[in-house]
Amino acid sequence: MPEPLQAPPRPAVALPPRPAMRRGLWALPLLLSLAFVAGVLTWLRSAERDEREQQRLDLISDALSLEAQIGARIELEQLYLVELATQLQSRQLQPAAFAAMPEVQQGLHRFWLSITWLDNANRFLAHLPEQAPQPPAAPLAGTASAGLSGHLSVPLASGQTLVARYSPSDMLRQSVPWWLARKYDVRLVDSFDEVIASTAEGRDVPGRQTYRVAMSPALGDRYLELIARDTITPWYRAFPMAMVVGFVVLIAGITWMLRRQVRDVSRAEQAWRTEAAWRSAMEDSLTVGLRARDLDGRLLYVNRALADMVGYAPEELVGQVPPMPYWPPDSLEEIMLRHRRNMAGNAPREGYQARWRHRGGRLLDVMVFEAPLVDARGQRIGWMGSIIDVTQARRLEERERHQTETMAHHARLTMLGEVASALAHELNQPLTAISSYNAGVINSVQRQPDPDPVVLRALQRLGEQAARAGRIVQRIREFLTRREPQLESCSLAAIVEGSVALLRRELDRQDVQLNLVLAPGLPPLVADAVLIEQVLINLVRNAGDALAGKDGPRRIEIRARRTPDEHFVRIDVIDNGPGLQGRSVEALCAPFYSTKPEGMGMGLAICRSILEAHHGAFDASETPGGGATFSLTLPLDLQPTAWPVEEVAL
Ligand code: ADP
Repeated sequence: MPEPLQAPPRPAVALPPRPAMRRGLWALPLLLSLAFVAGVLTWLRSAERDEREQQRLDLISDALSLEAQIGARIELEQLYLVELATQLQSRQLQPAAFAAMPEVQQGLHRFWLSITWLDNANRFLAHLPEQAPQPPAAPLAGTASAGLSGHLSVPLASGQTLVARYSPSDMLRQSVPWWLARKYDVRLVDSFDEVIASTAEGRDVPGRQTYRVAMSPALGDRYLELIARDTITPWYRAFPMAMVVGFVVLIAGITWMLRRQVRDVSRAEQAWRTEAAWRSAMEDSLTVGLRARDLDGRLLYVNRALADMVGYAPEELVGQVPPMPYWPPDSLEEIMLRHRRNMAGNAPREGYQARWRHRGGRLLDVMVFEAPLVDARGQRIGWMGSIIDVTQARRLEERERHQTETMAHHARLTMLGEVASALAHELNQPLTAISSYNAGVINSVQRQPDPDPVVLRALQRLGEQAARAGRIVQRIREFLTRREPQLESCSLAAIVEGSVALLRRELDRQDVQLNLVLAPGLPPLVADAVLIEQVLINLVRNAGDALAGKDGPRRIEIRARRTPDEHFVRIDVIDNGPGLQGRSVEALCAPFYSTKPEGMGMGLAICRSILEAHHGAFDASETPGGGATFSLTLPLDLQPTAWPVEEVAL
């Protein structure tokens, strides 16, 4: 179903130029992708750095606070031990009562591994729990609190010493709050990096952050080390996921943009289609031909009107270079010169006239107006021509001019006719009298016994000339009394054959071969058959006269056919005689023009008058190969009624 035409969109030339930014829009997705990747990289790396820094700060503060707590705890234990020593001294207790002291039991309950009371020679006075005493600071193998042990000692007044041995591991376990233990592995190490105690259960994982603080001097040369349990995920681990998420978002955005773009494009395409439909409708409705040519004259475009004007399809014309197929071949040189002038930009602004040839051979008169053809950037790329077919107008002008001339001619002929009529009337009597008197004189001279033959011959010549003058006058009278044309439908073939039949014997005598070429299917003609017959008789007789002195074959041919436009019938009388010898049809048709000794010179003038009375045309031309061709053209569309014609003959 054809799409309904909408209002024509604004012409493309009126659109504002597209901003450079929009023209580069196609690269936006790529730029966005690159920017996104760079952004994600930077963001991930800075996030990792920040996280690492934050973890480090937490680690430091947690390490410091834990060190303070552990230091405080050790000091507290030291205080408990001092308190125990004070109790021992103030209550003068014996070693046997040592085990019953609640402070001792409480200490063992906490994280003391053992408590030992030494005398001033470092011998055991008491030792709890009661097992084989171990040398202080020796590793306690096989206990639950495996690892190195530490000890606290308090001197008593009598040179004795109270030594509490404890498990640093247990001490750590009891001192490190649960939430800290979940975040960090906590270790006590000595200056040789030997682990004294640790809350770590698994193996070391590389890449974890650690922080080490020196413990209070009371604990000796030891360090508290915190190792973050959580490792910071390297930025590149999160990169693929971030990319995937980011690209999904990006693709969603790009899809949306693409959708908009597709909608814009289809809208533009719709507008373009509408515009194209409008333009071709407008172009097809034009009667003015349009053609676009490049700077070399190659046809880039022709509209329907131009194609119809010259009878070629637009596809046949587009791409053609000069000489164009519609240039008449006989004036190529002149047209080429004009073409070069036009290509140089010197075509007249007010247009110029040209004559082209339709594919069918008919010539056209056209007016051509040239204008520069420019592209979107305003640069000249060729020429745009508008062409108007003025053939009809020219023909009308020509016909008008011809009619005016014909009228003047008729007026002249009428006047001449009147004069000739008067002359004929006036001369008839004296000529008859001359003839009568001459006949009388001849009779009288002949009756003489010895008539002078010279006088007699002169008188006879006088009589002959008077008779000839009388015949001329008679012919003139006949012309003047000719009836007006009576138009009726008649057969052209019958007319031609009728006139030929009248002349056949005469032509045979003259040894002239007559040939008839009548196109088949000639339509009936509306004409005065008697007058047309007279025209043909006159022309054939003239041709016979022209052939009289010719050696070799003498030929006359009568051809009848319809003209290509089908509105006329054309009859040619062709001979192979001496031809027109440069004389125009006007000269031949001039009244009283004759080259024959006895000719009156009115035959062709009358022929032309008869044809003009039929609205036809009369012409004469040279026969190719020698001879003359007289042509008459008669319209086929006359109405079969007598119409008021002026004088047909003189
Ligand atoms: P006429 O026959 O009396 O001479 P026309 O008007 O018929 O008068 O012819 C005028 C002249 O035209 C002729 O005298 C002749 O010179 C020339 N003419 C006519 N027909 C032919 C022809 N077929 N070939 C050559 N000349 C011709």
